[in-house]
Amino acid sequence: MAAIRGKDTKPELLVRSGLHKLGYRFRVNRKDLTGKPDIVLTRLHAVIFVHGCFWHGHSCHLFRLPGTRTEFWATKINANRKRDNAVRSALLSDGWRIATVWECALKGKGRLELQGLLTELTTWLEGAESLLAIRGLDLSPGVASSMDASKATEPDATNR
Ligand SMILES: [Zn+2]
Repeated sequence: MAAIRGKDTKPELLVRSGLHKLGYRFRVNRKDLTGKPDIVLTRLHAVIFVHGCFWHGHSCHLFRLPGTRTEFWATKINANRKRDNAVRSALLSDGWRIATVWECALKGKGRLELQGLLTELTTWLEGAESLLAIRGLDLSPGVASSMDASKATEPDATNR
């Protein structure tokens, strides 16, 4: 699981190299910005987070609380989600636009086709919307789809 977290995880590299090939230039892991966004496009006032579904408690098929030390993980992941919300609020109030690309959009059986994902992302980059969330295909009927990132306040991770 630790491998999901570091700053050069594969899903993040897919997004970075894809954007780079399309001509976008950006900075990575800018430490002076709240939340150290994975990708920062200063001219477009946009930041992109590539979120690991486990660490950030995504409601998708890649997230499942471990059977051991369950309370520990639930507490930790809830804290991560709270921090994500605080980071998002702070960046928005500083005038940044925020895209969240979930790991499940880039790997696993629900992943999206990369070119389509990049098209969605670059359309947003060139537009004026404040928020974008891209997630993988919803594989389990009944799980709420899309836009989690903008309303991820309820700690449903504890109910697993
Ligand atoms: Zn996910």
